[in-house]
Amino acid sequence: MNQNKFSFDVVVAGGGIAGICAAIKAAREGASVVLIEQYGFPGGMSTAGMVSPFMKHSIDNEILVRGIFEELEIEMRKREGMIDNGFYASAFRSAAFKLLKDAKVKVLLHALLTRVNRAGDRIESINVVVFGEEFEIEGKVFIDTTGDAQIVYSGNFPWIKGDEETGKLQALTLFFRMGGINFNRALEYVKNHKEDFFSWMTYDFDLNKIISVAGYFSIVKKAIEEKRLSEDINYIFYTTLPNSGEASFNTSNILDLDGSTSFDLTKAELIGREQAWQVVRVLQNDVPGFENSYLIETAIQVGVRETRRAIGDYVITEDDILSCKKFDDSIARGSYGIDIHGQKDEQSRLDEMPENDFYEIPVRSLIVRDADNLLVAGRCLSATRKAHGALRIMPTSAAMGEACGALAALAVKNNLSIRKVPVQKLQERIKHNLSKRFFV
Ligand SMILES: Cc1cc2nc3c(=O)[nH]c(=O)nc-3n(C[C@H](O)[C@H](O)[C@H](O)COP(=O)(O)OP(=O)(O)OC[C@H]3O[C@@H](n4cnc5c(N)ncnc54)[C@H](O)[C@@H]3O)c2cc1C
Repeated sequence: MNQNKFSFDVVVAGGGIAGICAAIKAAREGASVVLIEQYGFPGGMSTAGMVSPFMKHSIDNEILVRGIFEELEIEMRKREGMIDNGFYASAFRSAAFKLLKDAKVKVLLHALLTRVNRAGDRIESINVVVFGEEFEIEGKVFIDTTGDAQIVYSGNFPWIKGDEETGKLQALTLFFRMGGINFNRALEYVKNHKEDFFSWMTYDFDLNKIISVAGYFSIVKKAIEEKRLSEDINYIFYTTLPNSGEASFNTSNILDLDGSTSFDLTKAELIGREQAWQVVRVLQNDVPGFENSYLIETAIQVGVRETRRAIGDYVITEDDILSCKKFDDSIARGSYGIDIHGQKDEQSRLDEMPENDFYEIPVRSLIVRDADNLLVAGRCLSATRKAHGALRIMPTSAAMGEACGALAALAVKNNLSIRKVPVQKLQERIKHNLSKRFFV
């Protein structure tokens, strides 16, 4: 027996929120599952990238994403690591580890996917490297949740990167967290300078709840003029982590770099940390409430919003999002608008969506074209760049992941190809994330 060869029903590559949910669901549905992750912990952008909070995933009084996503939330709250929709990376890591362990997912950490072995349109196995040692992992169904469509890319399946016409990719951002903020003072200043903040802001601040603050335009402008701040930074944006004097900053703005190449990522890591320190100094020196504040930590890796997307049996479009399109083969729902962080010569965009409607995600956008046994979920799903701008958020990625896990397990259990699994059977397994109209 080859000591370095393993077989599983379902192989999930990429342990971000999409991969975590995919692996847990497939395992709970009875499949043997391995989750491969290059870091020493799960979470991807939610932990290594320190991204928080969870973006909008509800309409009026209905929550659109439940299931494993909600279980992660509950576990984080038990650890006092989540308030409203904001959370700490440490709480996410611990919550994800617990749910993965309980579901008996085989988790392989520090493992880098390096090769995809195909026989025609079917993937037979993938190779992973752990500290120079190579393993081959066979599977019946593969799920690419690497964010960068690494299985799709390495397996030579169809993909596209960035804007369809210009090739542009969204700006990168290195998150950081500060403490020692006097919020009474900081928010008093914000209330008294409304013209210096984004018009979407609301000012009925409740210190027991998460608060978003975005702007400080004149302070940013002055600091740039005095060469204390990079001219690529347009505004300061933070969400409070209540009762702690802490806030999480989504402020650095790293332009014209590709988050799927090593050279560009290296530059981005350096620029992000330089910008973070600049912002910290500006806040400490110029902004009331931040006099005694300090930098707690920068994220382990720069935040990457967009790289490759798989091309699936269906490509979700901007029109599908804006028209709140419904699909018979829906597997998840969303209500977040198109959100594109533009480059230097590109307009950023953040669309508002209706409060009483949602769009749906068809299962075909998770099935990779020309591949017999490959699914994608999360950041690398099949969508146009604009639609991707809405679908890439964490709750929607979680729902897509859970659907992929259910589909993979159903295919294995019933010895069917992924395209032959009856969609009603799949919908039944993830009904908590779907419209009631499917179950009357
Ligand atoms: C700056 C920024 C701000 C954002 N703000 C918000 C927000 O406020 N709210 C919100 O809901 N969403 C936000 N998002 C979007 C959201 O964070 C991501 O789109 C989402 O987390 C993607 O999840 P994922 O599981 O698809 O991918 P990821 O989280 O990227 O996970 C992919 C995983 O695959 C692993 N991996 C990759 N390649 C390999 C390989 N070859 N071998 C092994 N493992 C590999 C990675 O290490 C990672 O763990 C933001 C994103 C960014 C970057």
